[in-house]
Amino acid sequence: MAIKYVPEPFRIKVVEPLRVLTREEREKKIAEARYNVFSLHAEDCYIDLLTDSGTNAMSQNQWSGIMSGDESYAGATSYFKLLEAGKDIFNYSYIQPVHQGRAAEKVLLPLFLKKGQYAISNMFFDTTRAHVLLCGARPLDCVVEEAKNPAKRAPFKGNMDVAKLESLIKQYGPENIGLVVMTITNNSAGGQPVSMKNMRETAAVCKKYSIPLDIDAARYAENAYFIKRDDPEYKNTSIKDIIREIFSYADMFTMSAKKDTIVNMGGMIGIKDANNPVIINVKGNCINYEGFISYGGLAGRDLEALAIGLYEGLDEYYLRYRIGQMEYLASRLDDAGIAYQSPVGGHGVFVDAQALFPHIPYNEFPAQTLVVELYKEAGIRCCDIGSYMLGNDPDTGKQLKADFEFTRLAIPRRVYTQAHLDVIADALIEIKKYAGSIKHGYRITWEPPILRHFQAQLEPIK
Ligand SMILES: *Cc1c(COP(=O)(O)O)cnc(C)c1O
Repeated sequence: MAIKYVPEPFRIKVVEPLRVLTREEREKKIAEARYNVFSLHAEDCYIDLLTDSGTNAMSQNQWSGIMSGDESYAGATSYFKLLEAGKDIFNYSYIQPVHQGRAAEKVLLPLFLKKGQYAISNMFFDTTRAHVLLCGARPLDCVVEEAKNPAKRAPFKGNMDVAKLESLIKQYGPENIGLVVMTITNNSAGGQPVSMKNMRETAAVCKKYSIPLDIDAARYAENAYFIKRDDPEYKNTSIKDIIREIFSYADMFTMSAKKDTIVNMGGMIGIKDANNPVIINVKGNCINYEGFISYGGLAGRDLEALAIGLYEGLDEYYLRYRIGQMEYLASRLDDAGIAYQSPVGGHGVFVDAQALFPHIPYNEFPAQTLVVELYKEAGIRCCDIGSYMLGNDPDTGKQLKADFEFTRLAIPRRVYTQAHLDVIADALIEIKKYAGSIKHGYRITWEPPILRHFQAQLEPIK
């Protein structure tokens, strides 16, 4: 039996009409897009689950903030409002706005990573991985083993494998590890949270070997909610206090504010210690790449909406509803025997496409196969988080095999209703019925050298 849906802590004031194409029309559209959903037009998608990034619905307070945003080049009022919010919530001395998460990576990562070095993470998100490579360094993933078993219901499956972290540091030499990155929640492992204990232990290892620790902080609030929900020690601690403790263990953060901060565009860098000499270089890179330090590639109105969204994202009832949407959708899949990364994570349901298509090998991209089927079946757009996304070995050019073949149904914040979630569940249940008749996956006919899944072209294997 599906669990009870947590009702929305808001009502709808503005609506955005959607249209539904016929199955024949969708089959034509996806073929024209060379089976790459990033090439589809948004108006041809009924439910768009491509990402929860920047697809959030802002509140009336944020939209009011858009009108009162200060567009001054330097020292805008909205900038100081953002600094105050950032310092208050994270307790960091230096806050730098940038235009999105990858901009934060572009500004910060080259200050820590040089050619021949390594960066270790519980799991790198794709743009973070790309920026490590662009520095000439190599990314090493170090997630706990149980994250690789989607059926295993364990809390905090996003954790760093701390013992492995230490052995990797010894193996490569601490002087060759430029940075450790803790991704909260662990996006690529299915939005799985990291525990406070794991945060603490990872920080201790970094400190022991004098390696700086960066939080990839896109989903800090959802991670804090999981800690409150699942760690009895924190059940009476406020979300804000949990966040402050998480961040106290790191030296800095890079953040895509397009996730938990509930805006459509924005990002931040935070540096804990006011005396950290890297701040001067962050400012320099920011001016070169993003714009002057008091706007960092954003309009004043964006800074204003960001400052407001930082607080809205901490609201506990909102977070309960938000995670409740994932739990509801996941419970419908449980009823139908459809496997996913479980327990369900924070920003989407990661369907185990390999379990649905056990006969399709990783190099025919089972998760991308399900992506295409979901579009054909119900106009749902989502994406592959598997071997197709992972790409080729940078040294040998050979297709890498991902630890999992997930089809990610990312749920935008405050956008879709319970009925939309039912359409998604029903489509998956329908596909499960004929999954065995889909004999083959896809082959790539063209791909760019880096981050190929955004642009590659595919064709079905006959
Ligand atoms: C989205 C995301 C990024 C990149 O941020 P953008 O705003 O898309 O540039 C980096 N890390 C994680 C974990 C993310 O989810």
